[in-house]
Amino acid sequence: MSQFRFSRRPDIGGRVRVSFEFFPPKTDEMEERLWQTVTRLAPLGPKFVSVTYGAGGSTRERTARTVKRILTEASIPAAAHLTCVGATRDEVDAVIRQYQGIGIGRFVALRGDPATGVGSVYRPHPGGYQNGADLVAGLKSIADFDISVAAYPEKHPQSPDFATDIEMLKRKVDNGATRAITQFFFDNDLYERYVERVRRAGIYIPIVPGIQPVHSFRQVANFSAKAGTHVPAWLAERFEGLDNDPQTHALVASAVAAEQVMDLMERGVEEFHFYTMNRADLAFAICHMIGLRAHEAPQTIEIPGSAAA
Ligand code: FAD
Repeated sequence: MSQFRFSRRPDIGGRVRVSFEFFPPKTDEMEERLWQTVTRLAPLGPKFVSVTYGAGGSTRERTARTVKRILTEASIPAAAHLTCVGATRDEVDAVIRQYQGIGIGRFVALRGDPATGVGSVYRPHPGGYQNGADLVAGLKSIADFDISVAAYPEKHPQSPDFATDIEMLKRKVDNGATRAITQFFFDNDLYERYVERVRRAGIYIPIVPGIQPVHSFRQVANFSAKAGTHVPAWLAERFEGLDNDPQTHALVASAVAAEQVMDLMERGVEEFHFYTMNRADLAFAICHMIGLRAHEAPQTIEIPGSAAA
């Protein structure tokens, strides 16, 4: 595919659901900015939001605090990401129980990457969960949590082939995951082909596309190279010469992401996960363009895995 084949807004805007991903803030100033972002996006009624978990548990307390604050002050269903890299089962289980104790019942269960980076060889901790699927089983053995996992439309860079990669996704589902969120991608044909493969493998959970609004093309291109995400030539051309022109960059980014989402909607996709980088503007603009409107009514939220659920 050279470009998204978007022509008109399909008539499914009313059924579209979104979720937003944040990272835990490091400073008071970053927390303030995140809170402005949450406050701006919350009225769009996201299905849930999620908060990432730093390599090796480095954000354990901050992730918990952020999820807790979103649950209590914004009343949005909120999931904590959790990784198992570099930790024993007991250590990970202690984090799960700590999170459960403060009312967290939704998780995005991940293997994580070695501290040396995405491209480094992964070696499971000898006494730890071995991979994402194993972590899902561990979570489920503690409580009936709502569990999302990662999926890779262009396959995980360390997977030898798609069959191995999809086999891992199948194990995650067999162990209790009910939603997969994809790595970001820019070629919708690759996503569509991946979903076909997944369905042929007998996996029927939602494969929610992860949408990365391009806040900085340079950063996204760098990260894409590590993550194994193909950056089409037409995308690079759209951002050419805009490194020092933030206003035009943002306008182009908003148009590109909206086109991608609308094209996916034309292909029947109704749920999207936005990697927000803790910034509201692009995500909000894209949601507006696909027909989502702010509402004021707070939601009543249910916590999976709690005694009351
Ligand atoms: P797994 O599914 O366990 O493994 C990834 C792939 O590696 C598998 O599909 C499989 O093909 C292959 N593989 C694994 N084990 C073996 C084996 N023993 N033999 C052969 N092949 C194997 N990282 C963070 O640190 N914090 C986060 O909060 C975070 N959030 C994320 C959210 C999303 C939606 C996504 C897509 C990624 C996120 N990541 C995060 C990155 C993630 O940790 C990395 O992509 C990591 O490299 C793989 O994690 P996983 O759970 O997909 O791993």
